[in-house]
Amino acid sequence: MKQPYLLLTPGPLSTTATVKAAMQIDYCTWDQDYRNITESVRSQLLAVAQASPERYTSILIQGSGSYGVEATIGTAIPPEGALLMIAINGAYGQRISDIAAYYQIPHIDICFDEDQAVDPARIAQALDAHPEVTHFAMIHSETTTGILNPIDQIMPLLKARHIISIIDAMSSLGGVPLSVDQLGCDYLISSANKCIQGVPGFAFVIANRQQLAQTAGNARSLCLDLYDQWQTMTKFPGKWRFTSPTHVVHAFSQALKELALEGGVTKRYQRYRENQEVLSTGMQQLGFTLVIQPAVQGPIITSFKYPTPTFDFPHFYQFLKAHGFVIYPGKVTTTPSFRIGSIGDVTPSDIKQLLTVIATYQHQASSH
Ligand SMILES: *Cc1c(COP(=O)(O)O)cnc(C)c1O
Repeated sequence: MKQPYLLLTPGPLSTTATVKAAMQIDYCTWDQDYRNITESVRSQLLAVAQASPERYTSILIQGSGSYGVEATIGTAIPPEGALLMIAINGAYGQRISDIAAYYQIPHIDICFDEDQAVDPARIAQALDAHPEVTHFAMIHSETTTGILNPIDQIMPLLKARHIISIIDAMSSLGGVPLSVDQLGCDYLISSANKCIQGVPGFAFVIANRQQLAQTAGNARSLCLDLYDQWQTMTKFPGKWRFTSPTHVVHAFSQALKELALEGGVTKRYQRYRENQEVLSTGMQQLGFTLVIQPAVQGPIITSFKYPTPTFDFPHFYQFLKAHGFVIYPGKVTTTPSFRIGSIGDVTPSDIKQLLTVIATYQHQASSH
C-alpha cells in the first residue's frame, strides 16, 4: 500500500513495507513459535546494545517507551532509603522527575538550559555535594532538541561512587553506536518504535543481572514490575506476564533482521548522520537557523527556529503533509521552533525531496 506521507518524526517513524507485512500473522502468546521469537528478540537486543549475556539481561514490557522508564524507576529504586539525582536538559529528563514525584521518590534535579548538553563537571560537583545519592538517571539522546548527552563521561563519575545508573537511550539505541559493557551502566531503556525501526507497542530494558536480582518487592505497580516480568520471562522462556503485543513483536523481529542486513548499528548511524547533515545544511541554505550548536547535535532530530515571529507553523505543517512529509512541532519551551527527524526508513534523497518542497513553500509565501 502506498503511504500518504513519510514520517520525519522520531517515533513512531516510517517503517519498511516488510516490517509492516510481518504483522499479518496472528500468534497466540502461549505458542512455542511465538515464545521462541520473544527469546530471540531478547538475545538480539543484548547484541545490539553490546551487553554481555553473562552480566546483562533484557526485559520487554508492554506499552510505550515511558512505560519502560517508569517500570525501571519504580523497580530499581526502593521505597525507602534511596535518593535519585536526575540530569535534565529537556522534556524527557523532566519526565523522569515527574515519575519520581508520582512515586514520592526523593530526587535532586540538576537542570541545564535546553540548548546545552549535560555538563559532566557540574554533575561531578553535584555528586560531591550530595554523597547520599544512591541512583542517577539521565537521557542519552534528548529528543526535545536532538542533543546527544555525554553518557560516556558521566558513567565513570557514577561508578567511582557506586551509584546505580539509569540511562534513557530511547531515541539512540540501534541508531548511535554504544556499548553497555563499556559504559557499565545498570539500566538502559529503549522502545520498539525508535532506531530499531519497529512499530509502537513495547519498551525494553537492558539490566545488570546482579542489580536487578536485588529489586524483588520494590515495585509499587503490578503491571510495571520489571523484576516480576523478568522472573516470568526467565522461568518460562519467552513468556510475558499478561497479553503481549504479538503483532508488534513480529514486526520488531523483522526490524532486527533488517538492522543486521543494513550492516548493524554503525552503518545505520552513518545513514542517520548523512540524513541529518543533508537536512541541516539544506535548511540553513534556505535561511533557517539552528536551535542548538552543531557540536552537541546528534543524528536523530534537528530543531529549527521559526524564521519570523509571525511564522505560521500549522500552515507550513499542512503544506508539507500535503506534499508527502510529516514533521514535528517544537518542544523547546523558550524558543519558538519546529523539529525534523532523520531516523526511520528514510534516506538522504528523501531529505533532498523535503528540502525541495520547503523551497517551494517559501517561494509561494514570498510571492503573496
Ligand atoms: C520517545 C522517547 C521516550 C518515550 O516516549 P513515549 O511517548 O512514551 O514512547 C522517552 N525518552 C526519550 C528520550 C524519547 O525520545
